[in-house]
Order: sequence, then C-alpha cells, then structure tokens
Amino acid sequence: MFRPIPVLCYHRVGPQGGPFSTTPEVFAAHLAWLAERGYTTVTAREVGAVASGRAEAPAQPAVALTFDDGYADLDTEVAPALRRHGFRATSFLITDLCPAEPAPGDEYLSWPAARRLAEQGVFEFRTHTHTHGRWELEAGRAGEVGDDIAASIKALAEGLGRRPEEMAELAWPWGRTCDAWDEAALNLGVATQFVVQRGAVTRPGATTRLPRMLADGMPPATFARWLRLLSTGPGALAVNAVFGTIRQRRHGAGYR
Ligand SMILES: [Zn+2]
Repeated sequence: MFRPIPVLCYHRVGPQGGPFSTTPEVFAAHLAWLAERGYTTVTAREVGAVASGRAEAPAQPAVALTFDDGYADLDTEVAPALRRHGFRATSFLITDLCPAEPAPGDEYLSWPAARRLAEQGVFEFRTHTHTHGRWELEAGRAGEVGDDIAASIKALAEGLGRRPEEMAELAWPWGRTCDAWDEAALNLGVATQFVVQRGAVTRPGATTRLPRMLADGMPPATFARWLRLLSTGPGALAVNAVFGTIRQRRHGAGYR
C-alpha cells in the first residue's frame, strides 16, 4: 500500500529559540518518534523520483527531513542527531552565503563542511536559490530568478565537486512560487520543486509545488499527530487529497 511521504521543513536547530528554530531536545524527540515507528528517511531527490513515478515509494513509512538556508548547526547539531538513527536529510542552501572556508562563529555552513557531510551520505545539498531574493511574484522577473538559480547550481556543483545536472531539486525561498518561476527552474533542469504548504507527497503527478510542512519547534505530540494524519493514518490519502485541492487554489502561496 502506498503511504504518502511527508516532507518536513526545518531551519535552525539549537538552543537559541525563535520562530524558525528547534531546540536539540525537541529535534531529538521528533527523530526518536520516527525511529520507534519504523520510518525510513528519503531525500528530496528520492521524493522527486517517487512523485514523478520513476521510483516506487519505500515499503515502510517514509519521511523527508529538509533544512532550509544552510546554517552551521547542520554540522554541529543536526548531523550528529541524524547519525544516531541512521537517518539522512536534504539541506537547501542559500549558496551565496556559504563561506569558502570554515571559521569559528560562522552562521552558515562552509563549502568544505558541506562537501564532507555530502560525502558521508548524511546530507544531500540542493538549491534554495543563490541569494534568497525577495523577488515580487511577477512573471517579468522570471529571468532574474532563473539567473539566480543558475548561479546557485554552479556554486553547488563547484562547492561539492558534483555535476550540475545532479542539482535537480529546489526549495523556493519563502515557500512561494508562481507559474513563471516554476518554468524558469524547469528550463534549468530543476524538475522537483517544493513550496511550503500542508500535505504530503502522494501519487505520481506534477513534481512542482510539492508540499513541505514547517516542523520548526513543533511540540512532539503535535508532530506525532501530523505524521499519523498525513502518512500512516487510515484516512491519509483522503486528507492529502483535500490539502492538494487547497494547494492548487492557493497557487503555491507559502509562508512569509
Ligand atoms: Zn529560506
């Protein structure tokens, strides 16, 4: 039986608090809950393969853990927590902010650290655009958005020592997109694109505007309720169909 795949969106993990932040304790509770219930983790690339029908969904419950903006705590907090359970994750980097070399007190993950984590198989790194621009949602600026994504793919390929063609997944900044932006990314070979909306990835179909849910700081009991509702509960397919309809109506509008 096909189970929908929730794609969870995190930002910072650390003790600092704040709206786009998760404490190490809460993050550990999320991962422990998933491990205890036999979840496996899939990356954005694997979600794209399932969503497009190129791959079967895993037999066991699956979740994708994604981290936006590329904070340095990916190395210090997130990777050790993932390793405890043999989990993997995807990080969507603002590539213009990644330091060329690591330095104490860095806010963002450096390229050498990203490359090491990718080679260890803990993280798949993909684009969150080069500059995370606050472009208006206007078709007229799609060229600007396309140039920004192209710069990001180039930086990822160089920074990670990988081929640009591998960088076919993207998370839109601010969780939002429009038809012209979708098209600009598709023209660069970025076939799998995520917004921020409720719902899980369900059946083969479109691979743009795939839903991700904000999980930053979510209380563990709420986390458990959402995961059951979206993936393993008896009505999960029906619930996701409703969220899918809402998503189409809202035209990819995400959070601000
Ligand atoms: Zn972001």
